[in-house]
Amino acid sequence: MKAAVYYGIRDVRVEEMQEPKPGHGEIKVKVKYCGICGSDLHEYTHGLFPMSYFGHEVAGEIVEVGTGVEDLNVGERVSAFSKGGYAEYMVASVDQTIRAPDDVSWEKLAVLEPLAVAANAVARGGIKAGDTALIAGAGPVGLMLLVSLKKIGAKSVYVTDPTELRRKKAEELGATRVFNPLDRKIPAEIREMTGGDGVDYAFEAVGVEGSMKDCLASARRGGIVVVQGIFTERVPMHMLGFVSKEITMMGTTSLNPKLAREWIADPTTKPELIVTSIISLDDIQRRGFEVLTSDKNKDIKILVAP
Ligand SMILES: [Zn+2]
Repeated sequence: MKAAVYYGIRDVRVEEMQEPKPGHGEIKVKVKYCGICGSDLHEYTHGLFPMSYFGHEVAGEIVEVGTGVEDLNVGERVSAFSKGGYAEYMVASVDQTIRAPDDVSWEKLAVLEPLAVAANAVARGGIKAGDTALIAGAGPVGLMLLVSLKKIGAKSVYVTDPTELRRKKAEELGATRVFNPLDRKIPAEIREMTGGDGVDYAFEAVGVEGSMKDCLASARRGGIVVVQGIFTERVPMHMLGFVSKEITMMGTTSLNPKLAREWIADPTTKPELIVTSIISLDDIQRRGFEVLTSDKNKDIKILVAP
């Protein structure tokens, strides 16, 4: 079978290799799509993380089950979040797999994993219907947060992003207002939109100093800042504002696949709208990683079809 192999920074090659065998508690999946994740892009430009999950946003069909697998059967459609999805076949452990709801599209199933990350952030933050929120960054993470917040019934959701394509997508997905953080002072805009108070929740979905600052400065007194961006640099923070406004800050990175599965079963929830391209496995470097790391105005979520 064909699979993409990580050789090093900006060096991913598609090679012929043996099909994997499912072990105890594992299933073998024929991959329909594998989404390119922001964490994969960081690895592409900065090097593999110690616990790498290269290629983990998978929609596919079970073709074989290992010993000890009772709940899943050959022929069933699943979303899998084990690594190794940039291949025609992958092996996933049962606890990193969730069965597809009836009648969902392959595209929707392929974005279940990023939606599950947002679902966890939203559940962990405790946001409720009627709350207000800022999302700094309208990449896949920020847009999945937007889908989640709309689903929960947040009253107003403001979204910032420097690229037009991503701001437009945020509008399409129901953002109350979008801002370009490069030409507006976000905290001042947010105060104006919220009667001087600031938002109940601010979500950092980029992983850079500017958006972190915007989140801290835009949250209301007693507000909550949820940090989900992947930071590769240290960030100096204005701690006095953090203390005097009695802000709570929390980091989040794990998944809530059950909640995401419930959400995708609803036909009016459309996380798959973030998919902007579907490419072949052979094009993964040139039309996938290179595009997403060089021009954020061209694509948002790219699915690889092995
Ligand atoms: Zn991911």
